[in-house]
Amino acid sequence: MSTFSADSVRAALAELHTRIERAGGADVDVVAVTKTFGPDAIEAALAAGCRAIGENYAQELLAKREAAAGAEVHFIGQLQSNKVRQLADVVDVYETVDRSKLANEIAKRAPGARVLIQVDTTGETGKGGVPLAELDALADHIRGLDLDLIGLMAVGPTEGGPAAAAPGFRQVRAAVDRLGLAVCSMGMTADLEVAVAEGSTQVRVGTALFGQRVRTRSDQER
Ligand SMILES: *Cc1c(COP(=O)(O)O)cnc(C)c1O
Repeated sequence: MSTFSADSVRAALAELHTRIERAGGADVDVVAVTKTFGPDAIEAALAAGCRAIGENYAQELLAKREAAAGAEVHFIGQLQSNKVRQLADVVDVYETVDRSKLANEIAKRAPGARVLIQVDTTGETGKGGVPLAELDALADHIRGLDLDLIGLMAVGPTEGGPAAAAPGFRQVRAAVDRLGLAVCSMGMTADLEVAVAEGSTQVRVGTALFGQRVRTRSDQER
């Protein structure tokens, strides 16, 4: 039995576009985040007109690779270098590159791949991301590899509510411009208005499209 229908996702997507427009966003791309949901969520998202899907966990994504075959797959979770080899022919965009070792491995296993650098502006542990002070060095390193550096990605702080995300998002957007990049991936269900107002070009949205996630074992299976 399928939990998700293309119609319900299509309706949620229309509401999401309304939220983005009200926040002042014109050309904001949507990555439909399907983590913890079954392959039917990916199928419903594609049928509803989403092109890009986001997944956080390597094993979980590999288990859903057939459903994901028609999508542009964005890897948005913390990524261990030793998982890259298996993911290389499934992932299209690596959004969470935050250290040179990981970049080296992606360049080796998926030459020419599109990557984003994840920037940490919160100082909160366990989220990954390179501190702003080390961003330029990592960008230089990546530009010396066989990779296509297209943008920056950031996750807002857990503490303080959506408004607390604004200063960090502003810094990330400024860095995107300074580095001459095209993609600014920031904003999730709770803070997408703030992100769009600060110049996001791509939001990553799960809950607003598919409803509340139930924690599954895959939350631990990175
Ligand atoms: C889960 C997740 C999202 C989507 O979060 P929602 O609040 O469900 O919209 C976006 N980005 C990252 C990095 C995530 O881990």
